[in-house]
Amino acid sequence: MLVFENVSLKPYNTFGVDVSADRLLELRTGGEVDSFLASGFDAGSCLILGSGANILFTGDFHGTVARIATKGIREISRQDGRVLLEVAAGEVWDDFVRHCVAQGYYGVENLALIPAQVGGAVVQNIGAYGCEVKDVVSSVRAVCLKSGEERSFSREECGFGYRTSLFKRHRGEYMVRSVLFSLSLEPLFHTEYGDVAERLRQRGGTTISSVYEVVSEIRREKLPDVKVLGSAGSFFRNPVVPDGKWQELHAAFPQLKGFPEGDGVKLSAAQLIDSLGWKGYRCGDAGVHVRQALVLVNYGRATGGEILQLACDIRDSVEQRYGMRLEEEVIII
Ligand SMILES: Cc1cc2nc3c(=O)[nH]c(=O)nc-3n(C[C@H](O)[C@H](O)[C@H](O)COP(=O)(O)OP(=O)(O)OC[C@H]3O[C@@H](n4cnc5c(N)ncnc54)[C@H](O)[C@@H]3O)c2cc1C
Repeated sequence: MLVFENVSLKPYNTFGVDVSADRLLELRTGGEVDSFLASGFDAGSCLILGSGANILFTGDFHGTVARIATKGIREISRQDGRVLLEVAAGEVWDDFVRHCVAQGYYGVENLALIPAQVGGAVVQNIGAYGCEVKDVVSSVRAVCLKSGEERSFSREECGFGYRTSLFKRHRGEYMVRSVLFSLSLEPLFHTEYGDVAERLRQRGGTTISSVYEVVSEIRREKLPDVKVLGSAGSFFRNPVVPDGKWQELHAAFPQLKGFPEGDGVKLSAAQLIDSLGWKGYRCGDAGVHVRQALVLVNYGRATGGEILQLACDIRDSVEQRYGMRLEEEVIII
């Protein structure tokens, strides 16, 4: 296990915010995870970290950061046209996706290039281009950090919802150790989202590799490369409002787009923010991405506090105009 004291977390969060942690542990094997769990650590002052792509640190972290760096993809079985894979929580999400694409395992190609580790991807129920990780999760192996109990959670028990799960709702309570994925051995494509189908047509066909490439191409065009420009992807969740509120909003602002979601209507947070002129806004080194109003960025030396202040200003302006409060998708620490 690698142990660092008083270490900068700048390389460990995609916003690139420079804060320090009292202690950082890198847990690279199942044995190191076991040793950590048996070490009598204080669960109340411990943060489990994946790739730090959904976190905004607003100050130094006074406690222990346990970074999951376990690796491994193991085939468990093949049955009824599906393959079951056990994947360590510390696997880089896109490495796993590329493995599936290379092997011809269908179901995660639309989730290409999302910065995450497998554990973090499940906690957040990542989604893109009409697919969510919950669609391919069979079960999740996790440890309760308070009781030390380790068990498998069925897909139903994981309580997945829009960008959330049981593990996110009970933040700090569980450590995800591994995930069982069930992937199709038969082609099963979802290409109806955005201009995916049109780009595939231009390429002359739909294969698992071409879907991966097209989604990657669109993402590279639209989203910042976190190696160049710090961000955590979408800062706010798309709000879901009751039908009555949607009717009211649509009457007052006919240009707003709404999509049916459960009992209500989902709005585009990006559209709401963009309509108020925030896209491309910059204050010091904190800003709103020039092509994506939902993505806040760090041009270099912004502090977590400055990025959070910008987020609050955006949220207040949306609330003033549209009478609804945006919720953060990013975890503020
Ligand atoms: C450029 C960019 C584009 C993005 N695009 C998308 C997108 O298209 N769709 C989407 O859904 N998201 C997107 N995101 C957001 C991000 O990729 C996801 O939120 C992802 O799930 C973060 O995973 P992570 O491993 O980095 O988690 P972290 O940021 O490290 O952690 C997030 C939370 O999960 C917890 N956690 C992490 N690992 C574990 C574990 N093993 N056990 C228990 N808890 C754990 C942490 O404690 C924290 O509370 C994007 C982010 C960026 C920077």
